[in-house]
Amino acid sequence: MLLPEWYFVSAAVLLGAALGSFLNVCVYRWPAEQSVISPRSRCGGCGTPIAWYDNIPVLSWLLLRARCRHCGQPISVQYPLVEIAVAAIWGLAVWQLGPTLDALRLAAFLTILLGIALTDAREMVIPDQFTVPGTALGLLLAAPAGGFPFRSALFGALLGYLLLWGVKLAAERALGKPALGVGDIHMMAMIGAFTGPAGVLLTLFLGSVLGLVLGVPVMWLRGRLAPMQSYLPLGLFLAMGAAVAMVLGPAIIEWYLQALL
Ligand SMILES: [Zn+2]
Repeated sequence: MLLPEWYFVSAAVLLGAALGSFLNVCVYRWPAEQSVISPRSRCGGCGTPIAWYDNIPVLSWLLLRARCRHCGQPISVQYPLVEIAVAAIWGLAVWQLGPTLDALRLAAFLTILLGIALTDAREMVIPDQFTVPGTALGLLLAAPAGGFPFRSALFGALLGYLLLWGVKLAAERALGKPALGVGDIHMMAMIGAFTGPAGVLLTLFLGSVLGLVLGVPVMWLRGRLAPMQSYLPLGLFLAMGAAVAMVLGPAIIEWYLQALL
């Protein structure tokens, strides 16, 4: 039986909303070294476990008018926004690529990048729980997904890892203090596993440009307001760069080579 396209796209949207709900839990718990399995989700205010009917993506937040049913404590708008974003990622991936492994590869990568962008922006950490299984997933999905050979994924992961170690050592020698976390290095290995060697270089270029254009003014402003917080969340800008490299990378590289020749 041939199922219509809208069926797969709707299924992907629902799956994405559920994954977005889980991503919220990861983003709040992993930086605090807590398990995402147990205990069950609780209200941050009164500690009451959240019932299943109060935990439905987006809908519950709207029905509860962004407040806990028991104590009335506000529930952050980050919850429904992340659920909507991940639902959109999965829906668009299946709409563009069909119910394929390529769509799974794209949607999984963008979902993990969103998780990293949030933990890095909020807590200034890039949990290994995102990047280590992420690297394995990138390598695993490379060959069967079709257009992306396993060789590229492996070389990309190695290049990303070694290149960032080099940057870390050079920066520490130049600055005379610790620079770049291990989280950034593991993140770049994962980006390489999904986008290949060219994707690593493109991500570093785009991430640096975005960091300069968006990050430095923010740092300067924050530094004036609160000097202790003048820290650049590099992972946030690498995540943005990697998302562009994943979606538009082949087109950008082709355009660049044509301009060059
Ligand atoms: Zn409560």
